[in-house]
Amino acid sequence: MAETKEPLVRLEGLCKSYDTQVAVERFDLSIAKGEFVVLLGPSGSGKTTVLSMLGGFTEPSEGRVLIEGADVTALPPAKRPTATVFQDYALFPHMSVRANVGFGLAMRKVSRVARDIRADEVLKLVGLEGFGSRRVHQLSGGQRQRVALARAIAVKPAVLLLDEPLGALDLALRRQMQEELVHIQKRLGTSFVHVTHDQEEAMSVADKIVVMNKGRVEDRGTPSRIYRRPASLFTATFMGENNILPAKLVARSGDELTVETALGRFLLVGGEDASALQPGAALHVALRPEQIFPAATAPEDAVPLGAAILTELVFQGTHWRAHAKAGGKGALDLLLRLPPDLAPAAGEALDILARPQDMTVLTR
Ligand code: ADP
Ligand code: MG
Repeated sequence: MAETKEPLVRLEGLCKSYDTQVAVERFDLSIAKGEFVVLLGPSGSGKTTVLSMLGGFTEPSEGRVLIEGADVTALPPAKRPTATVFQDYALFPHMSVRANVGFGLAMRKVSRVARDIRADEVLKLVGLEGFGSRRVHQLSGGQRQRVALARAIAVKPAVLLLDEPLGALDLALRRQMQEELVHIQKRLGTSFVHVTHDQEEAMSVADKIVVMNKGRVEDRGTPSRIYRRPASLFTATFMGENNILPAKLVARSGDELTVETALGRFLLVGGEDASALQPGAALHVALRPEQIFPAATAPEDAVPLGAAILTELVFQGTHWRAHAKAGGKGALDLLLRLPPDLAPAAGEALDILARPQDMTVLTR
């Protein structure tokens, strides 16, 4: 018999207001055991506030935090089965790496010997075997990041919270650490809640992404669903580059929508919120740059979008990144990705096509 499993973490109606400012508004989230959740949003969207209400550093104005079925809303951080990796790592510079990693265990009155054994165990896990007796100030940025991670893992939390943990690292190291974080997380089976404003980072690590904007949830789902079928205009433009076409609903039959845009009239399938739309309604259609094809490489089921006049071209190795004017009077600016073996020139007119199933109808 299928049992309905209680999620590991439940955030219910969390709100946080400061004097003049609402930082987080009615935030709900369930986190399953072993799930890697990313809170993604621009600076100021409330990510840190949510994380710190979950970790116990910020008291919610309203709402509840439940972990493993218990209401922990009133508990301080040390009494919760959580551990946090802070944005600035918050390591003790005068202490050894081993003492830093064992700090949370010392707070929990674990003996010195047991602490050192556990510290060496987790240092190995994060790739810092043999670094225990070093001082923190002798480490590189990437190594400090690993120490902070090891310190959080050492206490065996049920949920590990990470606030922009890779923000201080250079790009190559960040990419490498993203992969390692996922490996470590899958190996431990611990739930991670990871905050970032970097959509590529979110896609690389997350099982589930929660897109935040102005203290509210804009969208939530798997990286591929959010990228391919964004629920709102905000998500469509925040998660990667997109073309947003203003559109009008001409007719609707169930979830089949006839939509008029500057690039033509298309028969599209709308999402849930499209089923109540009336003809004449204003909406938007999102179409990714890589979903617009020149005639030479267009798939069979692509439909014509008319001609696009190329205005700007940059060669990026895997593709040409191109700006173009399209639509009736060339009123629409489009971003395209053209095949690298094409030799396009600025000023050239190109017939472009796209598949209707790649077009996402946005109603908000
Ligand atoms: P993010 O982590 O997404 O950048 P934050 O959660 O830090 O966003 O902040 C969300 C909003 O709440 C911001 O507008 C911020 O200025 C405000 N805020 C956060 N902490 C405080 C505070 N202690 N006092 C007043 N306003 C705050
Ligand atoms: Mg923040």
